[in-house]
Amino acid sequence: MTGLEELTRCIKKLSADAVNTLLDMVKILLASQNTIGIPDCPYCSGTKAIRYGHKCGKQRFLCKQCGRTFVTTTHTIMSQSHFSEAVWQEVISDTVQGNAIDYSAKKLGINHRTVFDMRHKVLLALQELPETEHILLDGVSELDETFVLECYKGKTLPEAVGRKARKHGAKAQKRGISNEYVCICTGIQRKGDAYAATANRAKPDAEELAGLFAGHIAQGTLVLCDGLKSYNSLPAATGCTVKDCHDLTEEEKGFFHLNTVNGFHSFIKRRYDFYRGVATKYLNRYNALFAATYNNAAILVEQLCHALLNVGSADHYHSSRDVRKLRLLAV
Ligand SMILES: [Zn+2]
Repeated sequence: MTGLEELTRCIKKLSADAVNTLLDMVKILLASQNTIGIPDCPYCSGTKAIRYGHKCGKQRFLCKQCGRTFVTTTHTIMSQSHFSEAVWQEVISDTVQGNAIDYSAKKLGINHRTVFDMRHKVLLALQELPETEHILLDGVSELDETFVLECYKGKTLPEAVGRKARKHGAKAQKRGISNEYVCICTGIQRKGDAYAATANRAKPDAEELAGLFAGHIAQGTLVLCDGLKSYNSLPAATGCTVKDCHDLTEEEKGFFHLNTVNGFHSFIKRRYDFYRGVATKYLNRYNALFAATYNNAAILVEQLCHALLNVGSADHYHSSRDVRKLRLLAV
């Protein structure tokens, strides 16, 4: 006798009242099972949503608290996208691991432009994640600048630039740090987070540094730097102490050095060269990626998939128009 037959036999023996009680119990059980997999409302964080049909092949929900409907991709970067979560996971993973857009496009059988938009939607969302947007260097932190060649990748070189287009891998036309270079200002806490941002081409002035690092250096941080005078604006802007690592005794060099930030620079250069440059206007999007990836590449894919692919109150969706308009550098 199967379990179900056995159960039917038992039920037949019950009184009418007992059967009614059993029915109520089953209804409660079904209702509780039915809420499994129902996300909280992305608009009001209410927990009383119900399944409400389908929209464009996606499960739709109705929030009983605010009356709005949403689907499984509302507020995620997959919003308005026809691609599956598995495809988006691949795009996130390739982005974090530094794989080229062409590589992802070929592997996934999707055209380059579409993968480009998907990658930049990931980068925009990454820049806006609290973990990335509110990086706070603390303790002992090393700050320095590194320079990369400006890049007009994917675009005809504007005439105002006044030089011929470079071939892949070519060097700058002028020697030294000329305006062909774009400066990436970096900071890294020893055994902690990294931060990278670009303000301009040349070495940053005091105001630019204060602007880039305000809100990213905790009060009381010991900032080690290479002696560029502009760093002296940081104590007033952030409440840190600045120590110049130039002209030190051998003994002092054991502690007051910039080895950690130099390691971060090497990482940025390797990634930048591997991409064969990043269009300068997108550089801050990539700076956020370099900083987030440097210490945590292994767990970052997992964290990003969780944060960006699940319905939640934070809206991670960007349109292709945003990809072309938002957070661009005007250098
Ligand atoms: Zn709601």
